[in-house]
Amino acid sequence: MGRRRSQAEQCRRSLLSAERGLMPKRSAPLAVCLVFPNTYHTGMSNLAVHTLYGILNTRTDCLCERSFCDEHLLGSSLETGSPLGAFHVIAFSISFELDYPNVPKTLLAARVPLRATERNESHPLIIAGGPCMFSNPEPLADYIDACVIGEGEEAIGEVMTVVSKARENAFSRTATLRELSQIPGVYVPSLYNPVYSAKGELVGMENRNGSGLPITGRVVADLDEYPCASVLVTPNTEFANMFLVELGRGCRRNCRFCSACHIYLRRNRSLDSLKNRILSARGLSNTVGLVTSDLSDYPQRDELLAFLLNTGFGFSVSSVRADFITEDLLAGMQASGQRTLTLAPETASAKLRVLTGKRITAEALLSAVDLALNHSIINFRLYFMIGLPGEEDDDVEAIVELAKLVRLRMRRAAKRSRKMGRLTVCTAPFVPKPFTPLESVAFADAAVLSRRIKLLRRGLARVANTRLTLESPRMARLQCVFARGDRTVAALIEMIARGQSLAQAMREFGDKLKTYTDAQAESGCVRPWQSITPPAAQNNKGLRKD
Ligand code: SF4
Repeated sequence: MGRRRSQAEQCRRSLLSAERGLMPKRSAPLAVCLVFPNTYHTGMSNLAVHTLYGILNTRTDCLCERSFCDEHLLGSSLETGSPLGAFHVIAFSISFELDYPNVPKTLLAARVPLRATERNESHPLIIAGGPCMFSNPEPLADYIDACVIGEGEEAIGEVMTVVSKARENAFSRTATLRELSQIPGVYVPSLYNPVYSAKGELVGMENRNGSGLPITGRVVADLDEYPCASVLVTPNTEFANMFLVELGRGCRRNCRFCSACHIYLRRNRSLDSLKNRILSARGLSNTVGLVTSDLSDYPQRDELLAFLLNTGFGFSVSSVRADFITEDLLAGMQASGQRTLTLAPETASAKLRVLTGKRITAEALLSAVDLALNHSIINFRLYFMIGLPGEEDDDVEAIVELAKLVRLRMRRAAKRSRKMGRLTVCTAPFVPKPFTPLESVAFADAAVLSRRIKLLRRGLARVANTRLTLESPRMARLQCVFARGDRTVAALIEMIARGQSLAQAMREFGDKLKTYTDAQAESGCVRPWQSITPPAAQNNKGLRKD
C-alpha cells in the first residue's frame, strides 16, 4: 500500500472509530455517496448531512456513504474508502458559496467528467441540493445533472425512486434525466440553455425539453415527519460530541440582507417532536445544540429549555438575538457550562440598522452583556458587517466605540469576580444575496473596505483583551460572484478547482467579475436565479407556521 493510501486509510479509520451511533449498511441495489464539499470537521456540524444520511440509509433499496474534501478523503468514501466513481449517485449537499470549487475538485479526484454533457451511462448521476441550490444554482449548473430546489427530505426519496426504476429498466442517461425533471422541485440544467445578448447580458433561458421555468422549490408540509437531528456524534467537529436538533426553519425578522429568511419558509417543529428527538440522544450525548436562526422565534422556548434542564441535558444555542436574552436562558447556559455569548448586531450605527432591518440597539446589546456577566458568562463574540451600502467611516468607528463599552462592562465585572473574559469582534464584508431586498446592491469597493479595515484595526488595537477577526475582502468578493453568478462563472470555479491560485484565477476572469459585483440593474434584465423560486416564495396555505 502506498504512503498516501495508507494515510488515507488511517484518517478514515480514526474518524470512523470516534463516531458514536453510526449504523453502517453493507449492501443495497442503489449506492449513493453523499458529499459535503468541505472538511469532515465542517460537514459533520451540518444537519443536512445527518438528515439525508439517515433518510437514504433507512430506504431498503439504498445505501449511503459519505465523502468530504479533506486532503486524505477527497474522491473516496469515508465508510469503505470506495472511489466515488463506483457509486450510482453522487449527491452534493451545498451550504456555502465558497465551497463551489470543491464540487469540480471532487469530480476530478473521482475521475468523473466535469461537465454533465460529457458524461455517459457508465458515470454516476451527479445530484446537488442545499440552500445554495435554492438561492442560485446557475454557477454550478454545468457540473450537475439534477438539482433539488428547496427542502430535500421528500424530494430525495422521489429522486432515488426514479433512479432505481431507471436502473431496473436500463433507461438511457437522457431518459433518466427527463424522468427526474418531472419530479416537482427538480431542475435539470442541461434541459435549459442560457441566452445572452450581443453585449453578453443574460436575456433568457431557452427551454430544451424541460418542464418549464421557474422551478418551484419544495417545501416539506409537516416538518415533524422528517426529524432533522444528529444521526451520530463525533468529537471531530465544530460542535464536538453535541447532539444537534433543528427547531424550525426561516425567520420572522426579515432582515433585509439575510438569505435564511428570504429563501426558507418560516415554521417550527412541535414541542413534542423535539422532546422525543432529544430523548433519543440519551447514550449519545448529554449536550443538545439547538439549531435555529433565532431562538426567540420558537414559541415554546421556555418549556423547551425547562425540559432540557429537567431531563439532565445541557444545551447550546446556535443563534440568539441580544434583545431576547433572558435570565432563564442565561441560567440554562450557565448550568450547561457555557462561558461565551455570541451576538450578531451586524452594525453599530443607527442609520445602518434601518437599512439592514436588524434593529439591535447598543442599549439592548449592552444590557445583554450585563445580564450575561451576572451569570458568569465572561467571553463575548460580536459579529458585524462592513461595506454595507451607504456606510461611512463613522459607521465603522461606531463598532470600535461599542466594543469599548462592552469591554468597560467586562472590566467592571472582572473587578468583582477576578476573572477577565475575552472580547472577539468578528467582521465580514457584506455580500448581497439573491432573493433578499438588497440583492442588487454593489459589493463594496476594495479601497473602501481596506480603509474601513484599517479603522477597525487601529481603533481596536487600543482596546485591551480584544481580538479582531476579519473575513478576507477577496474571499467575500468571490462569494458575491458565486452568489449572483450565471453559468459563465463555472469557468472561474474550474480554474480554482484545478489548483490555480485565487489571485491568478480572478485576474484571468478579468473584468467579468464586475458583472456580478457591481450594482445590478433593478429592472429590464434577467437574473440567473430567476430559474427558480425558493420555498419562502410559496403559498404557505396549509403549513403550520408555529
Ligand atoms: S434575525 Fe438573524 S436569521 Fe432572522 S432575519 Fe435577521 S439575520 Fe436573518
